[in-house]
Amino acid sequence: MKAEKAFDFATTPGKLPKQVMPTDYAIRIVPNIDKLTFTGGETVKLSVRAPVRELVLNALEIEMAGAAIDDKTLPKSAVKIDKKNELVIIALPSELPAGDHNLALTFSGKINQQGQGLFYARYQEQGTVAKKTMLGTQFEATDARRLFPCWDEPSFRARFQLTAVVPENWLAISNMPVKSETKIDQGKEVRFGTTPPMASYLNVFVAGELDSIETQSGGVQIRVITTKGKAEWGRYALESSAKILQYYNDYFGVPYPLPKLDQIAVPGGFGGAMENWGGITYFESVLLFDPEKSSDNTKHDIFAVIAHEMAHMWFGDLVTMAWWDNLWLNEGFASWMGTKCTAHFNPQWEVWLRKTVPRDPARRVGIAKEQAMEGDARSTTHPVQQPIATEAETNSAFDDITYKKGQSFIRMLESFLGEDVFRDGIRRYIAAHKYSNSTTADLWNALAEASGKPVGEIAASWTEQPGFPVVKVKRGDNGNISLSQERFTINFKNAPPLRSLIRSPAKRPRVC
Ligand SMILES: [Zn+2]
Repeated sequence: MKAEKAFDFATTPGKLPKQVMPTDYAIRIVPNIDKLTFTGGETVKLSVRAPVRELVLNALEIEMAGAAIDDKTLPKSAVKIDKKNELVIIALPSELPAGDHNLALTFSGKINQQGQGLFYARYQEQGTVAKKTMLGTQFEATDARRLFPCWDEPSFRARFQLTAVVPENWLAISNMPVKSETKIDQGKEVRFGTTPPMASYLNVFVAGELDSIETQSGGVQIRVITTKGKAEWGRYALESSAKILQYYNDYFGVPYPLPKLDQIAVPGGFGGAMENWGGITYFESVLLFDPEKSSDNTKHDIFAVIAHEMAHMWFGDLVTMAWWDNLWLNEGFASWMGTKCTAHFNPQWEVWLRKTVPRDPARRVGIAKEQAMEGDARSTTHPVQQPIATEAETNSAFDDITYKKGQSFIRMLESFLGEDVFRDGIRRYIAAHKYSNSTTADLWNALAEASGKPVGEIAASWTEQPGFPVVKVKRGDNGNISLSQERFTINFKNAPPLRSLIRSPAKRPRVC
């Protein structure tokens, strides 16, 4: 087992060639709500590092209408779609030299019923009988390519500037605040500010007949956005968000970097929540709290989900995993951080001991650590860090091992290093990798620097191989205590034994 290396763009896994880096996208989207289609155009500034004869980027279920490089229109035959690999390959008329270039594309696509790419949600408006439609996006892991052709891998960070055309009475939201609104024939053209460099999957666009309530926290505008008539049910989420933002500004040592944070309730189309930078989307039942009807349990869930998603604003968005084999870095960390933050503000809830119902009904109800252990004891488990080659493998990586074993391991590591030392390590990590990408090795390095302990060597046994040990303690006749360990399994005959990845026995950790 070879130890993982620190982030290096050139050697990060992925399908896209690394010679061409997009730096700035300007994207314009015109949805057609009646036909559930859209047309789009984009210009992409490219930094070409070595001469290329073709451009390779991602697109899925998009029809290409036109392409131009440095203002020269390319023939239709130059643009090929590789459907199986979700790629567009653009043949260039001559070798494109290293340096800065401009790619312009026009295209069209569809508005989906499922939460993939641009989707619609139909709902009945609160307090009326009106049936309404709103639009939203869901891009993680690999669906930004359904709305606009792009270098849709997390290490291809770029600045994004979105413009969208919506009906005049709609509110439109994206990662950044609205920069200008212009009345046009089809409604209004909303131009959003430019994002800092970020991964494509963190883009967001939501629009509809929406209401909002807002507050300020540490100079940041926070809003809760809902369909009409429901905004007041966002009050608990709004107040919680303001507190959580202060907590994270302090914990991470780098203040929340965007001018605004929107918590957006979507009444369908997708489930759960998604940490789009500056515009987090939630299925509305996990964000809205009706003091007259909602239960205490709902309140706990809302706080926990917001705390998890807001942790991603730093851990995931400001610093992004290099590749999907490090998804656990995003999800394990946000699960741990969100729980820690929820426990801080609501000690009476005993959140670390809170049992949750597993997604798989065959598994038992339990606290996160038990659920992780149950899955990890079986033959179907996998290492927290696992190789990811395809889009399908990426999507199947969002499981209990990634979230719950990841979270439980981080908690164990925090208690081993100590809360303050661990936090100092996280501050180093965020400061060193902000607006960039990282691997698990980068996190271990920062924690090792802060603690003076060989964190990478200790941690690799937990993240780079499946399973966990059961430790037996025996007292001998002479009073000596002997410790032994073996892999803990359930219905898993001949399980491969765990290997210690620690080189020197003197450094063997005493906490397991
Ligand atoms: Zn998450």
